[in-house]
Amino acid sequence: MLHAGIISLHTSPLTQPGAGDSGGMNVYIREFVSSLTQAGVSCDVFVRRWTDELDPIVEVEPGFRVIHVPAGPVDMRKEELPGIVDEFTEWMLNWLSDEPVDVLHANYWLSGAVGHQLKHVLNLPLVTTFHTLARVKAEMGDHEPAVRMEAEAKVVACSDVLVANAEEERRQLVELYGAEPHRVEVVAPGVDRAFFSPGARGGARAAIGYEGGPLVLFVGRIQPLKGVDIAVQALAQLADPTATLMIVGGASGQEGDTEVRRITEMIEALGLGQRVVFVDPQPHYALSTYYRAADVLVMPSRSESFGLVALEAAACGVPVVAAAVGGLRTLVQDGTTGYLIDERDPARYAEAIDRIIGDGEHRAALAAAAEVTASRYPWSGLAGRLRRIYLDLVEAASPVDCS
Ligand code: UDP
Repeated sequence: MLHAGIISLHTSPLTQPGAGDSGGMNVYIREFVSSLTQAGVSCDVFVRRWTDELDPIVEVEPGFRVIHVPAGPVDMRKEELPGIVDEFTEWMLNWLSDEPVDVLHANYWLSGAVGHQLKHVLNLPLVTTFHTLARVKAEMGDHEPAVRMEAEAKVVACSDVLVANAEEERRQLVELYGAEPHRVEVVAPGVDRAFFSPGARGGARAAIGYEGGPLVLFVGRIQPLKGVDIAVQALAQLADPTATLMIVGGASGQEGDTEVRRITEMIEALGLGQRVVFVDPQPHYALSTYYRAADVLVMPSRSESFGLVALEAAACGVPVVAAAVGGLRTLVQDGTTGYLIDERDPARYAEAIDRIIGDGEHRAALAAAAEVTASRYPWSGLAGRLRRIYLDLVEAASPVDCS
């Protein structure tokens, strides 16, 4: 049986997504590892032990374990984590000498830095999914430390396969990091349709206690990158004064709390206090009720390697109005499953939302097409591709040597 070592140094597939450091990547790892395991690849996921209350090993399901790696004090901030990469690597080396794996799959640059060291010592193939890239963030005005960019460049050069979530990420890896095109595989994430599927809007609204007019939904971590300000300003410009914006999620990152304050002040200044509702982060599967209750999902992100929330909403039969960035450009078909907006202009968002909430027939057509599109993204699709990638690398037995 193939045995994979999945590295997720800074965040765990077991934590609640929607705030702090926990979001799409946590869902991604939980879902693809579960699906891979069910396809016969046993996986150990290596995560830094971030509180004292954790069992050293958690068996999530047969063949899927989370191994908590003691590296650094439990309560470290994300910015401090580069300092424990070597310690984490040493610990894993020790562990893998007793329980070897056939292939390593690193997620995010910190894990990539670990995987890079391990692959050379153990002569193993390395697959890397970055989820976000520092040079892409820098282009959007979010500057990351130079150490991250340098580490990413090294990991790009040394990974046997780079998994890009969408075509745009492949282009970024090639153009901004000089990745060799034949080593980049575009493999989209997925959605669990057993949970995310259409349902009665009235019932869902009753379940979440919502009684107002049209419901515009935002789901995700509150940080400047996500563009919640655009959603609020768009609400102010909607034709229907009874529409409500519901924001599900919590503050994230160094600027998260400041962003929450800024958004709250903006809501007050625009006199929207009665029309914006904040909801704490919700358990992943419980979100389906929020999606079903909504008329439209809004996702005005500055950048987005994929945008799982847009896929989940579509799977629930909800049209999406999203920024024309990253994976959202593949996911949302402009005019067919929702609208893609290529400017950071609230008026353009308001216009698209109005078009959806003001015309029930049009909304129903978009919703039906959105659901069909989402059905093309089962998690087993990603897991199947990864399994093939792992097997090919193990069979070839000639990991890239960058030294
Ligand atoms: N999420 C959740 N509960 C919340 C808010 C978000 O489970 O209250 C999940 C959401 O379902 C999605 C993920 O967090 O799967 C966010 O992923 P996305 O790719 O949209 O954004 P990211 O967090 O990667 O920036």
